[in-house]
Amino acid sequence: MANLDSKKLKLAIQKGGRLTEETLEFLRKSGLEFESYKQRLFSVCRNFPLEILYVRDDDIPDYVASGTVDLGILGQNILNEERPKVKKLLNLRYGFCSLMVAVPKDSEVKDISDLKGKTIATSYPESTKKFFKENNISIEVVKISGSVEIAPALGVAEAIVDLTSTGSTLALNDLRMLTKIYESEAVLVANEKSLLNGRKILVEKLLTRFKGVLSAKDYKYVMMNAPKDLLPKIKKIVPGLKSPTIAPLAKTGWISIQTVIKEQVFWETIEKLKNIGAQGIIVLPIEKII
Ligand code: ATP
Ligand code: ZN
Repeated sequence: MANLDSKKLKLAIQKGGRLTEETLEFLRKSGLEFESYKQRLFSVCRNFPLEILYVRDDDIPDYVASGTVDLGILGQNILNEERPKVKKLLNLRYGFCSLMVAVPKDSEVKDISDLKGKTIATSYPESTKKFFKENNISIEVVKISGSVEIAPALGVAEAIVDLTSTGSTLALNDLRMLTKIYESEAVLVANEKSLLNGRKILVEKLLTRFKGVLSAKDYKYVMMNAPKDLLPKIKKIVPGLKSPTIAPLAKTGWISIQTVIKEQVFWETIEKLKNIGAQGIIVLPIEKII
């Protein structure tokens, strides 16, 4: 086994869990080449001075805060719960989930205020206490590290606070969502010192790559054909990232237009373009925008 190289940046990611696959995919999309397989403790990037360490997500805040690693990728939920001394650099737009308050389906609890004086089971005691304190509702918290959703059935608690993305695990356990405490997604965090010393330049280079992948996700590349005199109208509909590329077509008076459209307004923009007479509209995903 190769040794960790002190000159290289170190990034800690979850070893085997809900964030692992999407994190590896995100890193690969950023153009980082490395081998990864189960049982591996760390990977060395072939084309960037970076080492990727595979650890339990719970250990990532400490590794980053202590400087064992420079960077980490973990759920925002862990930052909210533990408030570690790390600097958040980027939201990564995957690993979406929410911290929810839920009660058994047949519970008489209709509103969070009905939970006054009741016991709540959770792996997120700090987030739970903070939420109920802000709402002026006094509750008891029992900390459970796994399978929180069975606590009501076991008679341990009257309600739970747990992470969920679709709510299917809650439904499966005959639980009903009451309210959302916060939303979460994967985030990139850094050790404060790594952002000051010689590693700063490397961190910035990596950030540029990550941001390139993220902004590409927000845009689509669009090609279309239209009569030349429609161009002013088209320019109005598609304000675009930059001015569109325009090329003449064999058909006289017609042009081909290539531009970039924001994902959020994608469908309405395409509709508008079709309505004014754009034809042969082709849409392509963008890999990176630098
Ligand atoms: P580890 O073995 O690394 O300690 P874990 O069991 O604590 O893993 P996972 O369940 O794999 O953690 O979840 C990792 C992260 O995935 C969570 O902290 C959260 O940010 C995110 N996540 C996304 N969707 C969900 C979901 N439906 N339930 C729980 N976490 C989710
Ligand atoms: Zn964990």
